[in-house]
Amino acid sequence: MDSEGMEKFIRGHLAGFTGYSASTSPDVLAGRVDVPVESIIKMNANENPYGCSPRVLQALADNPHFHIYPDDGQQELRKLLAGYAGVAADRIVAGHGSNTLIDLIVRLFVGPGDEVVNCVPTFDIYRFSTEICGGTLVNVNRDEQFAVDVKTVKNIISRKTRLIFLATPNNPTGNVIPRQDILEIVDTGLPVVVDEAYYEFSGETAVPDVSQHSNLMVLRSFSKWAGLAGLRIGYGVFHPWIVGKLMAIKIPHNVSVAAEIAVRESLADLDYLQGKVRAIIAERERLFAKLEKIEWLKPYPSQANFIFCNVLKGNAAELHQKLQQKGILVRYFDNPLLRNSIRITAGKPEHTGALLKALREIDD
Ligand code: PMP
Repeated sequence: MDSEGMEKFIRGHLAGFTGYSASTSPDVLAGRVDVPVESIIKMNANENPYGCSPRVLQALADNPHFHIYPDDGQQELRKLLAGYAGVAADRIVAGHGSNTLIDLIVRLFVGPGDEVVNCVPTFDIYRFSTEICGGTLVNVNRDEQFAVDVKTVKNIISRKTRLIFLATPNNPTGNVIPRQDILEIVDTGLPVVVDEAYYEFSGETAVPDVSQHSNLMVLRSFSKWAGLAGLRIGYGVFHPWIVGKLMAIKIPHNVSVAAEIAVRESLADLDYLQGKVRAIIAERERLFAKLEKIEWLKPYPSQANFIFCNVLKGNAAELHQKLQQKGILVRYFDNPLLRNSIRITAGKPEHTGALLKALREIDD
């Protein structure tokens, strides 16, 4: 059967669906760039260059039980995460990365014709999951400093609105949403997702507010601060009633035994991991000061582990390409909301050094 024959069977709204454009992996660049794959510096996916806690590596090597399914009810895992987040375990759901929790929440609330309010530019998975579920995205533009336009968000709500997404710090712009703005939106009574994937770098959280507001849901990730992007582990804090609904519709065994072990060992090694978070924050500030001195870049202050920059001279796509050729990966954007811009993940001091050297060479 050819593809035309198959097309009539798939859901109509997915016929032209373009998917999510994920960051480039170094493996695919082997032989195509001027440096060996091992020397590629990844500043394009907001990963943690220090890696995970050594305790995680040891515990995974020592575990003889990978042939046994993990506990579908996530009992131990939810207790551990609850202790870290400072809430009761019946408020926690864990997932295979916080992406899958975004998707799970959308599947719980959004069906064909329902509306999802999205404060753009922002993380593209909110659009991705909404469109797959047949929902309609209602985009509200952020202002020139990328602050959320609370008034317009409140005005745009309709009888069809099912969810509002707020990322803080926002990806790709790095700014946080003030607590009073979040609470003003939560006061609408509509389900609100506050995505705190970068919480450990900003220190600002809406988790304590979840107990007062049953419509508030907060998502967190172990990908960035704990260096576990490859093992896939995220969690959310919810009203216990929503926890029940999410646990009922999630795929069974949605967190691997390896990820469970990684959470346990990471939380037993908090001092180590928080030391690395502090190093990344210090490097973000140093990188920002250096980028500010480059007259053809305009960096925006960030409370995450990356910096968003407008490219004021030349073309961001070309800049991205030239950096890639030199073995430095950054993310670039050129769309109606994000004109000619790049996003750079804060790395180790030597990564900043290599990036600055490459930028100087490109400018010559
Ligand atoms: N939310 C935001 C705002 C992000 O930037 C990311 C990662 N790019 C995620 C969620 C997903 O993180 P993960 O699935 O790795 O937990």
